[in-house]
Amino acid sequence: MYRQTQLATTNALCILRRPSLALPSTGIPNSHCLRPLAVSTLRSRKQSTLTHSHQPATTSIPPTSPNLAATPERPLASLPFTYLLRSILLHTVSASPSLLSLTTRFLNSNIDRLHIDSPLNPLGWILYYTFYKHFCAGKNEKEIETVVADLRDRGITGVILAYAREVEKGGESTEAEEAKQAKLWVEGTKKTVEYTPKGDFVAVKYSGAGPKALRLLGASPPEMPSLELAKGLEEICELAVKRGIRLLMDAEQVAVQDGIDMWTVDLMRKYNHRRSDGKAVVYNTYQMYLKSAPQKIAQHLAVSKNENWPLGVKLVRGAYLSSDPRDAICDSQADTDKQYDNAIQMLLAGQHGAKVDLIVATHNKESIRKAKIAAKTALLQENGAGLQEIKFAQLMGMADELSFGLTKEKEGVKVYKYVVWGSVTECVKYLLRRAQENQSSAGRSKDNVQACWEEVKWRVGLRR
Ligand SMILES: Cc1cc2nc3c(=O)[nH]c(=O)nc-3n(C[C@H](O)[C@H](O)[C@H](O)COP(=O)(O)OP(=O)(O)OC[C@H]3O[C@@H](n4cnc5c(N)ncnc54)[C@H](O)[C@@H]3O)c2cc1C
Repeated sequence: MYRQTQLATTNALCILRRPSLALPSTGIPNSHCLRPLAVSTLRSRKQSTLTHSHQPATTSIPPTSPNLAATPERPLASLPFTYLLRSILLHTVSASPSLLSLTTRFLNSNIDRLHIDSPLNPLGWILYYTFYKHFCAGKNEKEIETVVADLRDRGITGVILAYAREVEKGGESTEAEEAKQAKLWVEGTKKTVEYTPKGDFVAVKYSGAGPKALRLLGASPPEMPSLELAKGLEEICELAVKRGIRLLMDAEQVAVQDGIDMWTVDLMRKYNHRRSDGKAVVYNTYQMYLKSAPQKIAQHLAVSKNENWPLGVKLVRGAYLSSDPRDAICDSQADTDKQYDNAIQMLLAGQHGAKVDLIVATHNKESIRKAKIAAKTALLQENGAGLQEIKFAQLMGMADELSFGLTKEKEGVKVYKYVVWGSVTECVKYLLRRAQENQSSAGRSKDNVQACWEEVKWRVGLRR
């Protein structure tokens, strides 16, 4: 349905435009919108990547993909018109602090009694066709498969799948309840590994396992996982190895981060030599807004080098600006930006001598530009040999102009979308929590809105 709408829209718009018109700077006539893909061109573009070794992500791109309709000037050209309009609506709300706060306050206080998963509920219907369809992958394996196939058709390499259901924090709970919560979390995470296409990623948030996990992670010094949780983590990792899935351990608040690092390094030590292609199975997330982050990366690089396993690195700026202690965080956004970009340079240059699998997870255009230059430079230099992989990741429904722009790179970089799955209620709760954590990123929504408007203007003939 999604694809049909897209094709219908593309065709209608091609008809609207005069066939003699060529897209500026590429010289591609508009009639190409209707032509089947030059699959070989697309494949060679995708396969000549910045990395040395990859899974053949392009094999699922069907020969009639509308992907070539997009150009570097029009990164959103392959997206359906309805998608662009929905994106404008949602990001206009996100970009306005008052509208965002009104929406999140209303949903936060009413979500549990609104029964939005009922198909007869009009609010549920609205939420499903707006927030849910835009930011989420679906409620079951089949729906997830459809969304992933659509993303791949548009040039996205793959997904980072996350289960939306998280344990509610706060309140008293008995030992039995805590054990039940941890068990549910392990089952949910295993199901996510089952639903994820081979070669793609699963996001794992330890705190989702409930209060017991939080207590162990937050103890001073942090404690190792309980027996049941350790067994659950082992089952998750074994399943990931068996299915060819990689696990990205989310970074969380400073209060639990030492524990998260400890658990994750332990898992990397156990599982990162288990793939025959030498790639990491488990990745740690490094929040570059923390002053201590460069030192932590250096320590983990040294451990991985000494013990001879690849360090999986997901690099983010950090989402807990409003709740983490201010003195632990860089003094300004400019300092965070510098630390972020320097870390990419350092990891790619390879002088550390460790093997690194890197995911650059950001919506920052300038960081992406610098990372691409650093990756090219590293490949041209011998000491870049330490780098096994570089990938970019953005959240589904956000920074589309960057994600789809990256898919148009001649070098064919790898780009992933982070998507959540679950029921409408679970996903809306998840999105509300993320909106609260990411208040500082509201400005990014304006870029999104502007990029969508630019594409709309192309389609209605206001841009040539
Ligand atoms: C795929 C993906 C996965 C993610 N996973 C995680 C995760 O596991 N854990 C996590 O914490 N976050 C995660 N994030 C969120 C991430 O940390 C950022 O909050 C978000 O991406 C915005 O940062 P940005 O790099 O996109 O760039 P921008 O939007 O340019 O930067 C905004 C960020 O800069 C920093 N910043 C802003 N103002 C200041 C200031 N005054 N002083 C210091 N620093 C400042 C903050 O980190 C803020 O989030 C993820 C993001 C993506 C795209």
